[in-house]
Amino acid sequence: ARKYVVKRHFEGVPKRDDFDIVESELPPIQNGEILVKTEWVSVDPYLRAYNTRFPVPYDQFSYQVGLVEDSKDPRYPVGSRIVSHKGWCDYSIINANVSNSSADIVYKLPDLKGLSNSLGVGAVGMPGATAYFGFLEICQPKAGETVVVTGAAGAVGSLVGQIAKIKGCRVIGFAGSDDKVNWLENELGFDRAFNYKTVDVQKVLKEAAPKGIDCYFDNVGGEISSIIINQMNDLGRISVCGSISTYNDDLSKLPKATILQVAIVMKQLKIEGFLVPRWRDRWPEAFADLSKWIKSGSLKTREHITEGFENIVDAFVGMLNGDNTGKAVVKI
Ligand code: NDP
Repeated sequence: ARKYVVKRHFEGVPKRDDFDIVESELPPIQNGEILVKTEWVSVDPYLRAYNTRFPVPYDQFSYQVGLVEDSKDPRYPVGSRIVSHKGWCDYSIINANVSNSSADIVYKLPDLKGLSNSLGVGAVGMPGATAYFGFLEICQPKAGETVVVTGAAGAVGSLVGQIAKIKGCRVIGFAGSDDKVNWLENELGFDRAFNYKTVDVQKVLKEAAPKGIDCYFDNVGGEISSIIINQMNDLGRISVCGSISTYNDDLSKLPKATILQVAIVMKQLKIEGFLVPRWRDRWPEAFADLSKWIKSGSLKTREHITEGFENIVDAFVGMLNGDNTGKAVVKI
């Protein structure tokens, strides 16, 4: 079996040389264990953000979909598919009894109603649950309200905007290329979308959200978020999901932040950060709605697929650079 091991902490953009590929012979499985062949590996922003939290070397974790090839756990028979957190490896041995209480998170791939199994690490997986609970629980959107999403063409953002449309909101998205903007407006039904790299954000928002902003789903942090937050309506709600605009930066060297407290007090805003495992017990609720919406055509998904175990780091760095429209996944 092969797996990626992070051998040193990333400085700036991660490099292929920050990882080793380690090969080993897996032992026969024991009672309670399953042997899993990886089929789809996820590359996500948190793999970058969490890097310094773990001492090196560590195995590169991430969500993945795999096929059970051998089993001594009747809950996961040979031929069934599971979602685990075993990350960037081609084979793994998992003991679900032990793993459930640790970071290895094992559950059966939800019923995808004939859709691609890769959705198990995307729209019907962790990013789907993030969009669903992070938006609906924290923003509590009402029909007719105006919602702004940054990182709008990514895995989470593209779902948030479409869920907001399903709930009857007016949706404005920001993403990093004109192609992404076209996709959001012409295929996903966003009311307006803008390339944050080429527009004056404050100006376009005044025009696109004449009634102000009620909900902001923040995927990127940084200055664009301060501009958006300053244009919120009274009693607006802000769901802080991530801050990818700073993940590759040395936080001690960033410019001073815009002061937001005046806006927060005077407009009585609610700002709440979250980590999606908060709703772990309820993920199946999200998966049921999301797969139903995908099947009915009210929710569209797109994937940026990289092929091959050898190319996982490229896929990861490409995602951080914005190569992906929709969810970045690797087919093993
Ligand atoms: P995406 O699929 O959105 O991929 C990352 C995208 O980030 C890129 O495509 C790029 O798009 C954008 N990006 C990169 N650099 C910058 C920058 N400097 N400024 C603005 N945008 C940038 O990833 P996910 O959907 O998986 O994740 C989106 C966010 O959600 C991340 O912040 C992530 O950490 C967070 N997250 C949080 C969770 C939680 O539990 N709180 C769970 C899952 C995700 P572009 O071309 O538009 O720049």
